[in-house]
Amino acid sequence: MVYMSEANYGASRERARGIAAAGTHVVKAYLEHLLGAENVAENVPMSQKTTFKIGGPARFFVTVKSRDVLVKLLSALDYIETAWTIIGGGANLLVNDDGFDGVVIRMATSDIVQNGNFVYADAGVNLAKVCMFARKNSLSGLEWLAGIPGTIGGAVYMNAGAYGSEMQTVTVCVDVLKRSDDEWKIETINAGELDFGYRQSIFQERRDWIILGAYIHLAHGEEAAIGERMDEIMTKRRKSLPTQPSGGSTFRRPRPDFYVGTTIDRLGMKGNSVGGAMISDRHAGFIVNTGGATCADVMELVKQIKDAVREDTGEELHMEYEVL
Ligand SMILES: Cc1cc2nc3c(=O)[nH]c(=O)nc-3n(C[C@H](O)[C@H](O)[C@H](O)COP(=O)(O)OP(=O)(O)OC[C@H]3O[C@@H](n4cnc5c(N)ncnc54)[C@H](O)[C@@H]3O)c2cc1C
Repeated sequence: MVYMSEANYGASRERARGIAAAGTHVVKAYLEHLLGAENVAENVPMSQKTTFKIGGPARFFVTVKSRDVLVKLLSALDYIETAWTIIGGGANLLVNDDGFDGVVIRMATSDIVQNGNFVYADAGVNLAKVCMFARKNSLSGLEWLAGIPGTIGGAVYMNAGAYGSEMQTVTVCVDVLKRSDDEWKIETINAGELDFGYRQSIFQERRDWIILGAYIHLAHGEEAAIGERMDEIMTKRRKSLPTQPSGGSTFRRPRPDFYVGTTIDRLGMKGNSVGGAMISDRHAGFIVNTGGATCADVMELVKQIKDAVREDTGEELHMEYEVL
């Protein structure tokens, strides 16, 4: 699995040696055989696949709808030494302007089932669907999730949170696909072993572990009250968050009592821009794409904010998005 961390931005990356070696047409034919031609696309601009609407082309963009197919796909990609990466909704991703010279795998598994106060949701399930499912089944505990874009896989990976709750609060265990002795095996890991922290999980260290699905523990509630709270949260978010494309909050909070957006606002940086990237004039914690922003624009604006905040407060900020 190939990723770039913020620190590696601009450094040379491992490339998909295998595609060159195996021949693009061979890889394409194999992917189509495994996934169906309708689930394989070539040279897809990642700007079409991320909420930021930024990013160069993925050599291949494939949609995976079942675990079995995912295992076969990963084994084959390992065999031909082809780089791959997993994404969910692309709501926390900043993709390089060069794109990704490998296979971007979108998790599109979609099962969601209830067992009493427990819900099992596949990694590819959209967060809006999970919220609607909880609401319709009178299950309380996910109201805070209303309006957060993405999938269960991405939410577990990021330990997504809002209004004082996060995935850690509700997750019991996670089904994970791991490579062991050249074989892919499924393991169920208890939440206590997933190193959850503020916007953190073990998956950020173990990039080759794939989240297949999560067991979530909720409480019985009243459908009307749950719906009312979700609607209230959605209204609040609509009023306070930017409407232009973004990748969510730009930075993690360096400590719980440090509000990054408020600090950027105080420094008078709201509305500052580089190319098509602008510090939102609605919420300074977000960089938005006002049209045609590049990854380089965003990274330059990030640098300017980091420098200004460091100079003013001594705090070192770290980006919240994953950079591919
Ligand atoms: C307007 C806006 C508002 C937002 N508000 C919030 C908020 O209030 N709180 C919050 O926490 N976040 C927020 N976010 C960020 C984002 O919604 C969350 O981080 C979300 O959980 C990302 O999910 P995703 O499926 O889109 O992940 P992606 O962006 O697709 O991926 C994020 C990371 O997770 C990894 N990943 C995804 N699926 C898997 C998998 N199955 N197995 C292993 N790794 C995987 C990817 O490789 C990548 O590194 C916001 C974003 C936007 C655009």
